[in-house]
Amino acid sequence: MFSTILSAAILGIDAYPVQVEADICDGLPQFCMVGDLSPEAREAADRVRTAFRNTGFYFPPKRVTVNLSPAHIRKEGTRYDLPVAAALLSAMGALPAEQVENVLMAGEVGLSGTVRPVNGILQTVMLAKESGCKMCLVPKENVREGAFVPDIPVIGIGNIKELKECLACPEKAGQKTPSNETELFKQPVYKDDFREVNGQEGVRRAAEIAAAGMHNFLMIGPPGAGKTMIAKRIPTILPGLTREESLEISRVYSVCGLLEGKGQAVVRPFRAPHHTISASALAGGGRRILPGEISLATRGVLFLDELPEFQRNVLEALRQPLEEGQVVISRVNGKYVFPAHFQLVAAMNPCRCGYYPDRERCSCLPGEVARYMHRISWPLLDRIDICAEVHKVAYQDLARAGTSESSGQIRERVEKARILQKKRYKGCAWQYNAGLPSWGVHRFCPLGSEEEQILKTAFEKMDLSARAYHRIIKVARTIADLENEPDIRTPHLLEAIGYRCVDRKYWER
Ligand SMILES: [Zn+2]
Repeated sequence: MFSTILSAAILGIDAYPVQVEADICDGLPQFCMVGDLSPEAREAADRVRTAFRNTGFYFPPKRVTVNLSPAHIRKEGTRYDLPVAAALLSAMGALPAEQVENVLMAGEVGLSGTVRPVNGILQTVMLAKESGCKMCLVPKENVREGAFVPDIPVIGIGNIKELKECLACPEKAGQKTPSNETELFKQPVYKDDFREVNGQEGVRRAAEIAAAGMHNFLMIGPPGAGKTMIAKRIPTILPGLTREESLEISRVYSVCGLLEGKGQAVVRPFRAPHHTISASALAGGGRRILPGEISLATRGVLFLDELPEFQRNVLEALRQPLEEGQVVISRVNGKYVFPAHFQLVAAMNPCRCGYYPDRERCSCLPGEVARYMHRISWPLLDRIDICAEVHKVAYQDLARAGTSESSGQIRERVEKARILQKKRYKGCAWQYNAGLPSWGVHRFCPLGSEEEQILKTAFEKMDLSARAYHRIIKVARTIADLENEPDIRTPHLLEAIGYRCVDRKYWER
């Protein structure tokens, strides 16, 4: 009496096929599970045995062996409970072999037989489709998530009592919800809007440029000036998600169990980790390797408030993902690659008390101010394209509350600028100005002789690094795109240089 059920293991954000084999033979009553299992995966034996008793299934007083193969993949979590239960029922002859053939299952089983949701269903169903399975059996709560994958029936199950019915006539039992794809690509509705930001024209403009070219953005200013308020609203001026982007975000959220029954990501992520975060929580890692905040912010915004308060090693962990658009974690058992196409938005006070250079309120010593600013290393600062000062809101701006431009109006311009960039970089590995590699700057952003001269002067006067030089041109390109100008002109370049002057002002003392 032997049977096999298909399931999947999750490593990082990818799913790998796993065969759950069950054998029942004469001998001393025993339930043995093998195949490189973590403690919680091994406990499936106790859960399934008790669930069988409580749902009225017969559990034979025989020698039961369950093997999860291949043995070189570590099996973690409770997702193998459902396939183990199905494999036992099939080995006992309660489920016909042809019905369980080519059906991929995953789910946790409670002691009463209820099937509970598990993480990573999206990639599990994707694997089922790739390997040509005829259907996928998942916990009821996870059906919406699985339904995002087209062309494969995804059946939700609430209790192991329903196993027979689900497999015999899936059409009847199936709780497959139709994919709400048509709704998905409508412009998502956000709670926040740029209309609520009073005044701050300069920072609003900088945020718009940053959004249009996917540039990393730093705001410096006193507490209470509205830095967090602006950062929170940046996702609202970014274009709506494409199907591929939604899939990329959903894969990360699925393994972290953050889709919350929504099925798939419909809005751009906004992640704002506290400054006490550890490097592995930011970049990813842990005992069971999971994506960190960087990957959770992919295709959206990673907001770091109080930037100098972050541990130095945490900030350094940002550098590689910022350049490469991915996080690579190497361990003895393999290499994990997580997406990291995020826009970095950071905010900081100009000194510890927050009011420098306002000498009436700030009593920090010059040395202290310098030390505070230098907690952010040059290499990191060099990767930030736009640096803007945020000032206290003026009284007349408060009085004019509610008259500012809305996120929708700004988004229209951002979308147009992004379409221009996509056209320009068709067939390239990058899509936006911020991603343009230094070798491509001269090819895609040629300068006239007057512009060349301005940049040369700035380069010498400001003692710019090669990276900063390229970044100025890229930002100028975005400003020109916002104005639908085919060439980079002097005003574009001067504005872009202005966004680099701010960091010079604060750091060079
Ligand atoms: Zn101060």
